[in-house]
Amino acid sequence: MSLADILDRIDRARRAAGAGPVTLVAVSKTQPLERIEAVLQDGHRVFGENRVQEAASRWPGLRARHPGIELHLIGPLQTNKLRQALDLFDVIQTLDRDRLARKLADEAQARGRCPPLFVQVNTGAEPQKAGVLPEEADDFITRCREVYALPVIGVMAIPPLDEPPVPHFRLLREIGARNGLEKLSMGMSADFELAIAEGATHVRVGSALFGARLPHGQG
Ligand SMILES: *Cc1c(COP(=O)(O)O)cnc(C)c1O
Repeated sequence: MSLADILDRIDRARRAAGAGPVTLVAVSKTQPLERIEAVLQDGHRVFGENRVQEAASRWPGLRARHPGIELHLIGPLQTNKLRQALDLFDVIQTLDRDRLARKLADEAQARGRCPPLFVQVNTGAEPQKAGVLPEEADDFITRCREVYALPVIGVMAIPPLDEPPVPHFRLLREIGARNGLEKLSMGMSADFELAIAEGATHVRVGSALFGARLPHGQG
């Protein structure tokens, strides 16, 4: 589907919901460079990657050719990759544990700046998935802000694959609302319109925009 088609679907869903602006985070992980270049040529500037290493292999080059890029980290962040991540990404959507918050705060202090952050919430409490548990989210968000003075602007979730997503979107919205966080990153290719109806401000769309992904390692 073309960028224009996706933006049109987002805009319709947004208007139907009477909602404000919604940012399309174009998820370019494992996509061939030509497809990313094509979306850049069409004028899009906000992208998401889920691996630091993969982002490092191509985004510095893409940035040199296309001004104004805003790159979001949407995958797990290991503390040993933190510095590299801060060099590469403009927004980090996957803040999810105290140790990472502490290291981020130290590094932000040293650099004199910190990218805007989303706290990732594991709304389905899936053991294999990153994110704070819903019942731990309020405490964690408070700690990030008050103890570490981190610029948390929103919450992010990836609902379980095998469940209807809407209850998860609602749970995330409630967590955001009761913590005074305006930004909600939720909704992917299969369900971004549903997410917008539930208040998403950022949708993360990969395959619907770029086409099917190659497995990691073959991209
Ligand atoms: C891959 C990925 C997406 C995009 O998934 P699609 O179904 O291809 O749109 C969104 N969010 C995260 C965190 C991802 O890892």
